[in-house]
Amino acid sequence: MKPVKIFLIVFLGICCLSSVLQAQNSIDRVEPPFWWVGFKETKLQLLVHGAEISQYTPNITFPGVSITKVIRVKNPNYLFIDVMVAPDAKAGQFNISFKNTTGEKISYGYELKARSENSAARQGFNSSDAIYLITPDRFANGKMQNDTVAGLEDKHNRDFKGGRHGGDIQGISDHLDYISDMGFTSIWLNPVLENAQPTYSYHGYATTDFYKVDPRFGSNEEFRLMVEKARDQGIGFIMDMIANHSGSEHWWMKDLPSDDWINYADEYLVGKYVNTTHRRTLLRDPYSSASDKKRFSNGWFVETMPDLNQKNPLMAEYLIQNAVWWIEYSGLTGIRMDTYPYSDMTFMSEWTRRIMEEYPNFNIVGEEWSINPSVISYWQRGKINKNGYVSYLPSLMDFPLNHILAKGLMDKEEWSKGLIDIYKLLANDADYPDPSNLVIFPDNHDMSRIFTQLNEDEDLYKMAIAFNLTMRGIPQIYYGTEILMSNPGTDDHGIIRSDFPGGWAGDTVNAFTGKGLKLSQQQAQDFMRKLLNWRKDKDVIHNGKLMHYVPEDGVYVYFRYDETDKVMVIFNKNDKETDLPLDRFAEIMNGTKSARDVITERKFKILNKITLSSRSVMVLEIK
Ligand code: CA
Repeated sequence: MKPVKIFLIVFLGICCLSSVLQAQNSIDRVEPPFWWVGFKETKLQLLVHGAEISQYTPNITFPGVSITKVIRVKNPNYLFIDVMVAPDAKAGQFNISFKNTTGEKISYGYELKARSENSAARQGFNSSDAIYLITPDRFANGKMQNDTVAGLEDKHNRDFKGGRHGGDIQGISDHLDYISDMGFTSIWLNPVLENAQPTYSYHGYATTDFYKVDPRFGSNEEFRLMVEKARDQGIGFIMDMIANHSGSEHWWMKDLPSDDWINYADEYLVGKYVNTTHRRTLLRDPYSSASDKKRFSNGWFVETMPDLNQKNPLMAEYLIQNAVWWIEYSGLTGIRMDTYPYSDMTFMSEWTRRIMEEYPNFNIVGEEWSINPSVISYWQRGKINKNGYVSYLPSLMDFPLNHILAKGLMDKEEWSKGLIDIYKLLANDADYPDPSNLVIFPDNHDMSRIFTQLNEDEDLYKMAIAFNLTMRGIPQIYYGTEILMSNPGTDDHGIIRSDFPGGWAGDTVNAFTGKGLKLSQQQAQDFMRKLLNWRKDKDVIHNGKLMHYVPEDGVYVYFRYDETDKVMVIFNKNDKETDLPLDRFAEIMNGTKSARDVITERKFKILNKITLSSRSVMVLEIK
């Protein structure tokens, strides 16, 4: 809804209304821009921004909707209105009327929508899913006319690795069939909200408007329609959100509501900058000092990303409502929360609790980049923490497993190195309340491509992919990893996030159709497509138990199993064909007579050994 416009009245020459016109134009935003009836939380807090709006008193006359509190802050251009939306309130449109002491009035149209059917019960992503991670600027350019948008300084420049390359929502929407055919059932998009930063804005992590998709990607409506289209193809959507910071060009940075809206605001206002120490362990460290904690939590992530003060209840409510708004508006099945530990940890607990209360089957995965499982498990819902911290976060990115997988594959096999490191790391699952709800991944947008990490070794690559698609947890694959995209000789993010071939008109190589791909790329793509599509309906991989055996002689074996099915996964790092005697596995293989190799589709009888090709991985359905 937009402010009621009365230009016509002015054109009619009713000059005595000119003061009203001025007032009409003085509200430039109300956020959230609309809301819904039927949430468990009946309070809605509106942020109203407009010249001297704090001098006005708001009023609403609509059944079931009432103003319970009006909050004024230091900056007179803001008004926060607590609105009670009664459980029996009906959807509809109404005016919020504002009046000041001299009798000037402003009327602002607002809408409460009806929620879509079963919205609260929606199923979030889980271990039955496989997630495709896309950097939207770099996947496919579906619309050239939005490559450069008037008023947004960072212009289209495909020749610059840190520039905007023109990828957009239309490009993703156009290629949902490819993503679906590959076997993915969820998409996590790097952030799509407006980043009106002068440079280096393509990555999307410097939000300048929390309620607006960046026009270079598309509109809010285009985003919503893409999510809807994906849902029709069996693909859920995970939105990348950032509660820790905004972009330095966020509209409120030019007119801060109060001194405590962002952290280190005093310094900011005199042109100074305090950065975070990035020392994340201190949050659970029993010996950390309060000053270190403050510097970590309140310091800015980088100079172009002001740290939001979630201790301010108005900011906290703003961020919680914003997340709920996007879930409800666009039909999300999940959220990936960026820089999870950098926000105020009490706030993160409440943010997560509120979302999960509204959507009990939803899922949220947090980014805590640590290779220490103890640090990761601290944040998972259900964890009993020594310091009493209670978290409601269902899922985390499994950075420890990500790290150890590449290391374990690359290291030479020794008593204390190689596959044994992967085996040992998994013992830490004992510390997680729910290891099956960890997101596992060979790489992502912030690290070297897995093919590069593995020194472009195709055999090790296949092992890494097969591991991620058969291990406990929810696999996530970064776009392009299926065609061996790499970043040789650099770990520059702009190169890691290179354009997906075939996404741009005139590309000579097209990974969507396979045209121009090298044989090794085609094989990698086929390998992943086969495993992903097989995984789709394998409940034993989604929910089965895991049993693994101490790696010996360069071979690591694990089983996924349930009451009806067994899958045996075998990694052979030896440079030669290797016989694997099966007597060690009797407790789980007892009675097994045959196997089907999922990758080659070869069926064979199980006797007392399996012969493994050199440097290979086998995924066997055994019976
Ligand atoms: Ca475009």
